[in-house]
Amino acid sequence: MAIYRAPIRDMQFVIHELLDAQSCFAELPGGEEASADIIDSILEEGAKLCESIVFPTNRTGDVEGCRLDDGQVRTPSGFKEAYEALCTGGWMGLACDPEYGGQGLPHTLSVFFEEMLQSSNMSLALYPGLTRGAYVAIRAHGSDEMKRTYLPKLVDGSWTGVMCLTESHAGTDLGMLRTRAVPDGDGSYRVSGTKIFISGGDQDLTENIVHLVLARLPDAPEGVKGISMFLVPKYLVNADGSLGERNTFSCGSIEHKMGIKGASTCVMNYENAVGYLIGEPHKGLQAMFSMMNHERLMVGQEGLSQAEVAYQSAADYARERIQGRALSGVKSPDQPADPIIVHPDVRRMLLTGKACNEAARALLGWVSLQVDIAERHPDAGMREHAEDLVALFTPVIKAYFTDYGNEVCNLSMQVFGGHGYISEWGMEQLVRDSRVAQIYEGANGIHALDLAGRKLSMHEGRLIKRYLKILEDFVAEHRQDKKLDEFIAPLSGAVAALEDATRWLAKARMEDPDEIGAASYDYLRLMALVSFGYMWARSAAIATGKVEGDNTGFYQAKLTTARFFMKRLLPQTTALVATLRAGSRSLMELPAESF
Ligand SMILES: Cc1cc2nc3c(=O)[nH]c(=O)nc-3n(C[C@H](O)[C@H](O)[C@H](O)COP(=O)(O)OP(=O)(O)OC[C@H]3O[C@@H](n4cnc5c(N)ncnc54)[C@H](O)[C@@H]3O)c2cc1C
Repeated sequence: MAIYRAPIRDMQFVIHELLDAQSCFAELPGGEEASADIIDSILEEGAKLCESIVFPTNRTGDVEGCRLDDGQVRTPSGFKEAYEALCTGGWMGLACDPEYGGQGLPHTLSVFFEEMLQSSNMSLALYPGLTRGAYVAIRAHGSDEMKRTYLPKLVDGSWTGVMCLTESHAGTDLGMLRTRAVPDGDGSYRVSGTKIFISGGDQDLTENIVHLVLARLPDAPEGVKGISMFLVPKYLVNADGSLGERNTFSCGSIEHKMGIKGASTCVMNYENAVGYLIGEPHKGLQAMFSMMNHERLMVGQEGLSQAEVAYQSAADYARERIQGRALSGVKSPDQPADPIIVHPDVRRMLLTGKACNEAARALLGWVSLQVDIAERHPDAGMREHAEDLVALFTPVIKAYFTDYGNEVCNLSMQVFGGHGYISEWGMEQLVRDSRVAQIYEGANGIHALDLAGRKLSMHEGRLIKRYLKILEDFVAEHRQDKKLDEFIAPLSGAVAALEDATRWLAKARMEDPDEIGAASYDYLRLMALVSFGYMWARSAAIATGKVEGDNTGFYQAKLTTARFFMKRLLPQTTALVATLRAGSRSLMELPAESF
């Protein structure tokens, strides 16, 4: 069995020490509510709920999966009870607007809770995760009446929200979608078409499901400029808020898939279904981006969440499992063999998980704080600066966290040897569950293109310039500190490599458009590794000041892991710069028929 203990101490380190989040929250309207005590009690209560109620449903969810009975999707046993516990505890609306029944706490706090929820059961967490995205989109683009009718139900969890973009012939290229919407004459529309792969399109957890559907109006221009967004509820809502008639759409089938078996993945058929336009006609894709940007950060976090369970389980196993003797001499003379944690190669796998997870948690915490600042800070300049960082980092978090997350699940499975491949240990489930996060919400290659092709050139390079300035300032501030030299020197070299690659890309894109596509994946990985390095250097700067007199081993472990990262993972940046500068020719010259 996989094990999971919510990493509360590390979360506290990130929130209180690395981010000093409480001081940041205090500058945001409503943020002063988030005192240190409130933060800690949310982490502790959230951990209890996730460990004791949600985590036990993870394995049963995988074994049982969802099923379609008479047109109704049934989720695995235990899901409904766990979902209800989330709703009754008020967890669904932690960071939502009090006007709609939310608790108004900072988004950053809810992100830490969401990590625990995803670690405990990634499939179950998808239902509230999508609901939160739908809440964000309706709040940003819906009419006042729509907000009054739907948001309180999404906030208290009695209804869920889902996103309906993909069609069989239109995945990445949404400009080709064919679902149509025609005005009904009474202000509503009739939506017809088939969507595939719709997560949570149907389920038995809630009495209603709010579908946000992308479709074309009769006069729509071709391509992405002709897409509108519609709210299509499973049950129509009466004027008094009660549920009315069943809308005319249904789940045709559910997919049988590699992982996340407790999350329903539905083919949805809309047959003249009643829908309501959200936002302006033909501007649906922009409106949907409010939801997608939220989901992209959430999907990135899925990578971290699965890697955390995998790492914890592997570390526990490696301390117990005895095989062979340490190369440097016997370590457990009273046993027939030493625990496998003595072997350097096992340590390589474990430390890769630990170093990446802690850096990812810190980086996501930092970016989440920017989300709060972008939304709530009274100063417009601060909001714009934070928005730039969020936009820059969204593709990095989505793609890199899910890539490294799956890699760490695989490495952790490797620590178990053959036992990792056997279902009862739970490791192969983590590999299967985490895999989809590299694909859905846009395949990772598309996010690399978004970063290198779009985000780097936005506002004449303002986004990346702002981030590079943060890195340069940090390096300059700590350069003279001898105690930090082993962290700052490699970071400084990696920052210079990122600057060099950014300049190279800006020039190369002028000469050949394929250069961006060819370099984008390496560039995204480079930026992610440099950012992990930045988080480790910041962590080390805090830990050096606190390690003396600390008898918990926490700060010493931070320094040791930071050292591992700088010496054994950050140097990958050198290879990435070399491959991205290798240009597109070696990728593009082989004719398609020679593959
Ligand atoms: C379990 C699951 C749940 C899902 N949930 C939802 C959901 O709730 N709602 C929803 O709407 N969709 C959902 N999806 C769909 C998902 O978002 C798409 O599968 C994904 O966006 C990729 O689209 P596609 O599968 O059509 O791949 P394609 O678009 O066919 O892409 C295939 C490959 O080609 C690459 N590629 C395509 N175009 C380009 C390009 N221009 N440049 C470079 N590379 C390119 C891609 O990166 C990818 O590697 C889900 C999918 C799965 C598997």
